[in-house]
Amino acid sequence: MAYQTINPTTNELIKTYPNHTDADIEAALTAAHKLYKSSWSQGPIKPRLEVLERLADLIDARSEELAKICVREMGKLISDARDEVWIIAEIARFYAREAEGFLAPIKIDSGLGEAWIQHHALGVMMVVEPWNFPYYQLMRVFAPNFAAGNPVLAKHASIVPHCASVFEELVNEACAPKGAWANLFITSGQVSNIIADERVVGAAMTGSEGAGTAIATQAAKHLKKSTLEMGGNDVFIVLEDADMDKAIKDGVFSRLHISGQECICAKRFVLHEKIAGEFLDRFTKAMATVKIGDPMEEDTKLGPLSSAEASAGLAKQVQRAVDAGATLHLGGKPMDRPGNFFEPTILTNVTRDNPAYFEEFFGPVAQIYVVTSDDEIVELANDSRFGLAGAVFSKDIDRAKALASRIETGAIWINTFASTAPELPFGGVKRSGYGRELSQLGIKEFVNQKLVLVSNAA
Ligand code: NAP
Repeated sequence: MAYQTINPTTNELIKTYPNHTDADIEAALTAAHKLYKSSWSQGPIKPRLEVLERLADLIDARSEELAKICVREMGKLISDARDEVWIIAEIARFYAREAEGFLAPIKIDSGLGEAWIQHHALGVMMVVEPWNFPYYQLMRVFAPNFAAGNPVLAKHASIVPHCASVFEELVNEACAPKGAWANLFITSGQVSNIIADERVVGAAMTGSEGAGTAIATQAAKHLKKSTLEMGGNDVFIVLEDADMDKAIKDGVFSRLHISGQECICAKRFVLHEKIAGEFLDRFTKAMATVKIGDPMEEDTKLGPLSSAEASAGLAKQVQRAVDAGATLHLGGKPMDRPGNFFEPTILTNVTRDNPAYFEEFFGPVAQIYVVTSDDEIVELANDSRFGLAGAVFSKDIDRAKALASRIETGAIWINTFASTAPELPFGGVKRSGYGRELSQLGIKEFVNQKLVLVSNAA
């Protein structure tokens, strides 16, 4: 696929980037492996953490420029792009501050002697990332691996090459050594070859199930570890005692955030029958009146989808759902204006035999389900191939906690949705993937947790 910047607000082609060659890949692998074998990777952590601090400062210094690049390239709202730039600096600072503690030796009480776990870099990593958070996704894999001493080869999505290039530029400006991070504009076949290369020890991937399966299969074939962050069809549960104003506001925000193209966000609205009518009325009004427009304008609340293909694909998916018996309660099609704008859409009456019941809608499409009991909520929530996240809105925190513990996902929020922070682990179960990013769990995914034991035998 060609690496191109096409503005989703206008579909104007801004720039095409040349692909990297096999010779470029070989040079990147050689530099990365040499770095792994050097004292940079094997030696003290402090010099690596200083680079992360510098990187955070460089990001802050260019924050408005970085945000605008992101808006032009994938169409998210300027306020969301600013938030994304802010959080990537926070992630860099978080690992600069905490990584030494996370990777400190852990003592083990053992009758066999003095025992401890020490942590070491594992080697060169291959990462493949999606476009919807074009900086955040890169920082999630860069900062922990850099702190741990793992050099990284990165393949970003082909629709965000400017974000990919500017991220690499910032890493270099922060004085990361040659080989620590290489941005590669390459094909799936070249990714597969890199994973097979004996200098590469693991692969981390965020994106769709198809791509995840290809990458995990190749990693497994070569006996290498992988982590996968895939999609989801998260529930947004509103109980009869919820604060309705908050639930509606958060529900609309969550379903429309990044034009609905967020892995973790409200996709299936599960409403207690006692408040379902009121919720649907007010939610529909809010969705129908949201300000749609240029994502660069400060008061826009819904921008375009990332590409013309995404919009066409979503339209087909909605039509399939309706053909299979769902009711189109609101919207349902691309908007009649330049760019990839899609109407805020609500589907009701989605039955279990409808393909939509099990699918992820990666756009501003909400599904509505009405339930009568907590057992029914749990059954519906868990009747999913995915297991990424979900939310429960209720004033009864004990009841919400009890529901949270019964739902099969990597995360559940109570009375909020999709809060991300460097210290909070991120990841799913079932077909939403395996492994965790961010937090202390994320940095441990690709380190050698080595046992050392000094025998107490005389
Ligand atoms: P995608 O098509 O899988 O693309 C993601 C990345 O994988 C891109 O860099 C893409 O490159 C690459 N890719 C695609 N097929 C590949 C293959 N066979 N081998 C190697 N690389 C391959 O995903 P998407 O549809 O753009 O992204 C949206 C999906 O990601 C949604 O399902 C969303 O829920 C999920 N997501 C999950 C998380 C999470 O943390 N769980 C976060 C964000 C997004 P090209 O661009 O060149 O095709």
